[in-house]
Amino acid sequence: MSWEENVRKVVPYTPGEQPKIKNIIKLNTNENPYPPAPAVAAALKEMDVDDFRKYPDPTCSRLVDAIADFYKVDKSKVFVGVGSDDVLAMAFLTFFNSDKPVLFPDITYSFYDVWAKLFGIPFEQLPLKDDFTIEPSDYYRENGGIVIANPNAPTGIEMDANALEEIIKRNSDVVVIVDEAYVDFGGKSVLPLIDKYDNLLVVQTFSKSRSMAGMRIGYAFGCEKLIKYLSDVKFSFNSYTMNKPSLELGALAIEDEEYFNETRDKIIATRERVKPLLKELGFEFADSKTNFIFAKHSEKSGKEIFTALRERGIIVRRWDAPRISEYLRISIGTDEEMDKLIAALKEILER
Ligand SMILES: *Cc1c(COP(=O)(O)O)cnc(C)c1O
Repeated sequence: MSWEENVRKVVPYTPGEQPKIKNIIKLNTNENPYPPAPAVAAALKEMDVDDFRKYPDPTCSRLVDAIADFYKVDKSKVFVGVGSDDVLAMAFLTFFNSDKPVLFPDITYSFYDVWAKLFGIPFEQLPLKDDFTIEPSDYYRENGGIVIANPNAPTGIEMDANALEEIIKRNSDVVVIVDEAYVDFGGKSVLPLIDKYDNLLVVQTFSKSRSMAGMRIGYAFGCEKLIKYLSDVKFSFNSYTMNKPSLELGALAIEDEEYFNETRDKIIATRERVKPLLKELGFEFADSKTNFIFAKHSEKSGKEIFTALRERGIIVRRWDAPRISEYLRISIGTDEEMDKLIAALKEILER
């Protein structure tokens, strides 16, 4: 008998690569190409390091209040965590405690099945249709909970708001998590529905639309009771999830609405400009409401294009997974970065 027999063995999530080389065009993890709001840099310079001796505020009130103000919801309906990955993991642990399977699509954020396995939660991955859209009626059945990323990742496709509401409504006996990591880039949030459905948890993040992936800030909205249950689990796990800089800098970022709108609009404009250029080069993709485009070439293999781009210092994301191995997920960078991408693709595809 070895100690290894009693080890909890897991197959971890594989995050996108963070290459150490400079001068690379990094379009592989959907980071924002623009810096965080100006107040963030200014406050960081002024930060009093002596303050780090003390523990941070366990209630995270500075950040919770700023989020509550921005979204005009009561602070009792806001939860924050170390990126939405932390928020989602806590939510899985809190709300998915049934013998029935939790449901989510076969093609979606690839962390969901990792958490389910880690926590021993039964789950079923329901196949997306051939066009990568969700069939709502697949979710009208007994289950232990539902997770839907909307817009979905890595497809970029947004689900119809009424169809999503119908899923939430028909599953009032379980918690429905809607992961809105990309909703700011043109999607419609279900946040207003938290007052109508007490089983709805809406999760968002600072990592994409607020340019702060490196600070690790995520948040969620739900009815007061739902948030209370989530907090109880958080406080049974780690009282101090959020560090002092994250609380302050996150609050400052969310307070600058003008900068947020400006950078988001720039990314949307770049995405819309790039769509026809990719089409001209022979790429096929569903309409994206996110800061990435999930595209497949009509002739050349995904793997070949991926490798050829890499050789030219451009990194995109690709999965060796069923149904999507021909696809490349291309994050929207600056206009200049996207022009270089298009030029490289022209060369690779000899067009
Ligand atoms: C990026 C992403 C997350 C995680 O974001 P963090 O807040 O950086 O942890 C969650 N869900 C989806 C669908 C994402 O794409």
